Amino acid sequence: MNPLGSARLRDLRLAPLRCPGCGPSLLLRLGGDEMLVRCLRCRATPVHMALLGALDACGIDLARTDAYELSTTGAVLRHLRQRCRSVATSEYLDGVAPGSERDGVRCEDVQRLSFADGSFDLCTSTEVFEHVPDDLAGLRELHRVLRPGGRLLFTVPMSDAATTQVRARIVDGRIEHILPPAYHGDRLNGPESVLVYRDYGLDLVDRVRAAGFAEARLWRPARSHFGHARTVLVAARG
Ligand SMILES: [Zn+2]
Repeated sequence: MNPLGSARLRDLRLAPLRCPGCGPSLLLRLGGDEMLVRCLRCRATPVHMALLGALDACGIDLARTDAYELSTTGAVLRHLRQRCRSVATSEYLDGVAPGSERDGVRCEDVQRLSFADGSFDLCTSTEVFEHVPDDLAGLRELHRVLRPGGRLLFTVPMSDAATTQVRARIVDGRIEHILPPAYHGDRLNGPESVLVYRDYGLDLVDRVRAAGFAEARLWRPARSHFGHARTVLVAARG
């Protein structure tokens, strides 16, 4: 179902917003779902606004930054494209070899990226890693394609639990479900189409450090957007 299709007039709210994506704006709420809260100007969701807020707090000179965003759409990508020296983008496309294109979209599997070592100063992703079968391999790959001192910023659905709960894993090439399967929708594949491999807890920081990052911490926005405030993982390569 299109989330906008579930909007009802009585759920509508509007509030002033200082958007980390586009500056002074208005925040529109069409319903309780996080995806129904948007910056009116740049269409950033609370997820995008959290990531861009964390990026702003890093104080990076984006004009001298080669960035890699793990999607081909959205407010984070638009923000980076307007400010960075260069921006590479990709999607995970079933059956397309990493590094090759389909309909002008570069396909990459974050577990085995086709980019050379030290290609980027900044890597960003929103709501990707919970769907990656081997997240540690993916984090190691992002570490590899970052330059020394390069930053990684990403969001995943996260709880305040101490440890990450594995929901599913790949064993001998097949998916083994440890908990009842949970799915998220995505733009390419539709609603309820992408398996969730794990529910992240606070030990996400340890997982990122285990992948080789010298620094890893959680960044939280100072204020929520109609009750939605996302935690961002901010890491730096040594
Ligand atoms: Zn905005």
